[in-house]
Amino acid sequence: MRTFSFGAGVQSTAVLALQALGKLPEPYDVFLFANVGDDSEDPRSLDYYREFHVPFAEKHGIELIELHRILKDGSTETIWGRLTSPSGSIPIPVRMGNGAPATRGCTSDFKIRVIRRWQRKNGSCREDPAITGLGISTDEIERARDNSGFDDQILEYPLLQLQMNRKDCYSIIKEVGLPQPPKSACFFCPFHNAESWRRLRIERPDLFDKSVYLEQEINKKRDNLGKSKVWLTRYAKPLDIAIDDQLSFDLEGPEDCDSGYCFT
Ligand code: SF4
Repeated sequence: MRTFSFGAGVQSTAVLALQALGKLPEPYDVFLFANVGDDSEDPRSLDYYREFHVPFAEKHGIELIELHRILKDGSTETIWGRLTSPSGSIPIPVRMGNGAPATRGCTSDFKIRVIRRWQRKNGSCREDPAITGLGISTDEIERARDNSGFDDQILEYPLLQLQMNRKDCYSIIKEVGLPQPPKSACFFCPFHNAESWRRLRIERPDLFDKSVYLEQEINKKRDNLGKSKVWLTRYAKPLDIAIDDQLSFDLEGPEDCDSGYCFT
């Protein structure tokens, strides 16, 4: 079984385009999009997915399946849902007082496990492991790893095989007539840099306000457990204050959780 973990970002879109053009070293049987939640993923990515990825895949006879994290009782769990549930854990890489990100479980719980579950349901096993393509380009090669950690899953990197960088990805996307996709990430991801937060505040204040609310809710839960405060930015202060403060001297490089970080 040859599967591709489709994150809906730039690199994943390039792989979809390469498959349509017949330019992949070996095509995939199915592209799997693990949606972490309509209430969590950036709405621009979801809009692009529904407006462009789905019809493009259909037009080119490519199977593209949207997956969700389904709990034992049959309900769907989203990252936002877990974060805002009174008893839910905090799986995202919130920033500690020193600015360092906490260990995250979101990628594993809402993407890796969701995809692996689908693979196992569809026949992957130790004797017949599922190939899992990941959209990592040469400019982020350090994100690639050899071992999936599972004996029923083998990772491969088509963009590395083709020696393609992010710029090449944009070219191939343009070649098939698709518009430039937005970066794919949860709108509240603590990996966003100050510039991303600033843009969110200015361009989409509703999502910024939801992120402020989320940070407060996370800290309420931590207060109840007697734990110290955590933050969505590295500045060890509430989001609406941190981003006001940083508007004019943002010197950070990009740090968004795009395709590679999120195993997509
Ligand atoms: S975008 Fe950020 S919060 Fe969302 S799954 Fe990836 S690491 Fe977690």
